Amino acid sequence: MVTTSTGDAQPPRAPLGSWPTPLEPMPRLARALGLGADDLWVKRDDLTGLGGGGNKVRKLEWTCGAALAEGATVLVTTGAPQSNHARLTAAAGARLGLDVVLVLAGDSGSSESGNLTLDGLFGARVVWAGEGGKDEIAATARHVAGTLRDRGAVPALIPFGGSSALGARGYVECGKELLTQVPDLASVVVALGSGGTMAGLVGSLGPERVLGVHCGAVTEPARVVSDLVSGLSGTHCPPESLRIRLDQVGAGYPVLTEPVMTALTLAARTEGIVLDPIYTGRAMAGLTAAVRAGEITPGRRTVFLHSGGLPGLFGHPPTLARAAAELAVDGDPLSI
Ligand SMILES: *Cc1c(COP(=O)(O)O)cnc(C)c1O
Repeated sequence: MVTTSTGDAQPPRAPLGSWPTPLEPMPRLARALGLGADDLWVKRDDLTGLGGGGNKVRKLEWTCGAALAEGATVLVTTGAPQSNHARLTAAAGARLGLDVVLVLAGDSGSSESGNLTLDGLFGARVVWAGEGGKDEIAATARHVAGTLRDRGAVPALIPFGGSSALGARGYVECGKELLTQVPDLASVVVALGSGGTMAGLVGSLGPERVLGVHCGAVTEPARVVSDLVSGLSGTHCPPESLRIRLDQVGAGYPVLTEPVMTALTLAARTEGIVLDPIYTGRAMAGLTAAVRAGEITPGRRTVFLHSGGLPGLFGHPPTLARAAAELAVDGDPLSI
């Protein structure tokens, strides 16, 4: 199951996704934003193939490759209740024949839809870690791993969001893939959660061409990304060299903002592309703000990295209510 490349010192990689992902034009959205029709393209990393798709598949190929090489029998990871990473770790475990334990923030019953529906189908076991912070969740995950070890299993801890220097290799590869598809790439716009996606892209494209939109998942996004880039490349990446927009967090990570709702409806109605309220919606709202600010300009090639997240939309009641309200019509527009 694990492919080991010959000759160089590449770590083992578990094949989980379908590569390369498609690149598609978004001419109607480009014009709506004030760009030229040919200026804006979307990299469809929502179509990575495994378990409903999304950016975490690229990182899991490396972290699961390492887990298999170490003889792991069970994957343990952490996240929010609607974590796309947790869902895709559950799918990866199913694909690779490994058990999966998800240590999630909150309490049982706080949410059952969206990603959790899929976690259940994939056969993952969920341990609820309560409302404590990241340190408490990480401590619960270590405790779970210890208990599994006592029972004779071999647990592998997959990092939060899959974001370690190893996991970020998946996005170094994505950056290379993108350059073969768009040789004249000026900017790629990407949601910044746990940081590995942006870090990997910076690793292969350099800091000038990558615009990260902070989603509120970590407290110091620039430091997190710069540490990951430094870990990847072995050379220091100054946090100030990174392009990061901090203006799309709003009232906090789980909360729907008006610019995000606008971005969701705009992408849906111009291109038939579905974004999610937490990550890709923020990235698109950040792209819109960057065009307004003159940071992204007509005549240069911009790529929006679609990182997935569709199941999370169906686990986010405020967004579902707003979308349902769009169905309401006054009177009968079809009366004939
Ligand atoms: C996790 C996630 C991101 C952010 O990726 P990171 O590597 O954690 O920064 C973006 N979009 C979606 C849909 C995600 O699930």
